Amino acid sequence: MFFMQTLSLLQIAPTLAKFFEVHLNSQARPVEQILKFAYSRKPVPKMVVLVVIDSLDFRFYTDFADNLREIHELVKGDGLLFECETVSSHTTPAIGSILTGLKPEEHMILTNDDVGKSKIKSIMEILEDGGQKTAAAIETKGAKPLWGRISYVFAVDDREDIFEYDELIKSHTISVLKKQDLRLVFSHLRTIDRFAHRGGDLSVAAKVTNENIRAIANAVGERNGLLFICGDHEAHLKDRKAKQASHGEAPATVPLIVCCP
Ligand SMILES: [Zn+2]
Repeated sequence: MFFMQTLSLLQIAPTLAKFFEVHLNSQARPVEQILKFAYSRKPVPKMVVLVVIDSLDFRFYTDFADNLREIHELVKGDGLLFECETVSSHTTPAIGSILTGLKPEEHMILTNDDVGKSKIKSIMEILEDGGQKTAAAIETKGAKPLWGRISYVFAVDDREDIFEYDELIKSHTISVLKKQDLRLVFSHLRTIDRFAHRGGDLSVAAKVTNENIRAIANAVGERNGLLFICGDHEAHLKDRKAKQASHGEAPATVPLIVCCP
């Protein structure tokens, strides 16, 4: 089901906080449709997996629908689809906002060097403070500040072979789902972003990402979990940028998909 009303990426963390009944300081409102959807499932999911697909913007999501079939099927099969305003055109501040519900100028996690210096807690840390276990599968630099703060941290070193990188992220995400008391897993897939920056064949990147999501969705389904999938910012595509500059198009939005696979 596609909702016409545009959300903001800032609303994801408040929605998760409300679902898990913990307090989060954010001006952004929880998304009632998502909460209704989650509470109407039988049984009500006890666990959420949040996958950020780097550079998956709304236009990419529709332009590459054929290569992202699994993700579109998750929506068709009783899932929710929202269009979200972005908060930054860069990964680090965008993910900071997704995980805190705060704007970049509020959380101030703007570059890799800022990661770990912010006193503001992510939704994972807030859950852990309340005794609820969480996990993250992310790049090593982003993972460092989470060591000792959350139950399961899977740090994956950046590398030239981005397929291998995402394969590791996917495997860690699936393997940690075996932990029965887990409440929230965050993971970050980067193949589309790498291909966009280097001018690679985007349909290949979309297909690889689609397969990774298929595997994660199956694992989430086995746990009766809730799966959130979203982009972080617009895709940095050279030809599109030129067009945007000449046509003055509106800023990009990203999809947010919520489903029980
Ligand atoms: Zn990014």
